[in-house]
Amino acid sequence: MEDLIKRAAKDLAVAVNVAALTGAGISVESGIPPFRGKGGLWERLDPMEFAHINAFMRDPVKVWKALVREMKEIVDRAEPNDGHKGLAKLETRDKLKTIITQNIDGLHQAAGNTDVIEYHGTFAWQRCMDCGKKYETRKVDVSEIPPRCGCGGILRPDIVFFGEMIPAEAMWRSRQAASDCDLMLVVGTSAVVQPAAMIPIIAKENGAKIVEINPERTPLTVEVSDYLIMGGAGEVLNRIVAAMEKI
Ligand code: NAD
Ligand code: ZN
Repeated sequence: MEDLIKRAAKDLAVAVNVAALTGAGISVESGIPPFRGKGGLWERLDPMEFAHINAFMRDPVKVWKALVREMKEIVDRAEPNDGHKGLAKLETRDKLKTIITQNIDGLHQAAGNTDVIEYHGTFAWQRCMDCGKKYETRKVDVSEIPPRCGCGGILRPDIVFFGEMIPAEAMWRSRQAASDCDLMLVVGTSAVVQPAAMIPIIAKENGAKIVEINPERTPLTVEVSDYLIMGGAGEVLNRIVAAMEKI
């Protein structure tokens, strides 16, 4: 792995405009389970039954009890790990400009990154399904499920469920960031959820180097990524940042 760490440090040193695409894997070391892979939520829940907007509309109480309440407990307590902090350091060093994240946990902003595109929305807020009023998730009382707005409407997380559209601004801003960057770090994503999985392909087509960090291979590994550094996000990013200091 050491050779690839050095290679990434050199590639970052010469890059001018770095973007990152992150997925659930970067938050695993913060105690948030991913969807797929070992220990993933899908080992015990069927996504179409719980994370599809139709499922939520049909039975919000069921989805709140099985998924949303538990997510609130985990996300409320989660702190950024070395993976998030490593990307924040790359911004401080004026390398990393934009993070496109599929995560809804807010940990990149907590680590200090300032330009974070939340492709799948944010769990930091709940939104009333009737009047649209927003409530900070941390402050929402979940002693009764489903939690409700002052107007009586049911609250839903301000995230993008399966079957919902990507927010338009997130969509066009990430296309822009992908075509503008000269290096894209792809960290902790299984790269199977569309259209997010297209983002590294757009970057590649526009001439960017693609550096993947993931303990597993993904559909991008062979054809799209220049190389894969196989390991956890925290350790790998720590080592890359340390190696950059020696250049
Ligand atoms: P995924 O769950 O499909 O895949 C997780 C990926 O992370 C896998 O490729 C796995 O090999 C890798 N991984 C596991 N541990 C890692 C580590 N320590 N370091 C680096 N990589 C690691 O995740 P996805 O591709 O983001 O797609 C799932 C969807 O689920 C996303 O769209 C996202 O919205 C949502 N989600 C978000 C969170 C969160 O906000 N933290 C958590 C679960 C799911
Ligand atoms: Zn309301």
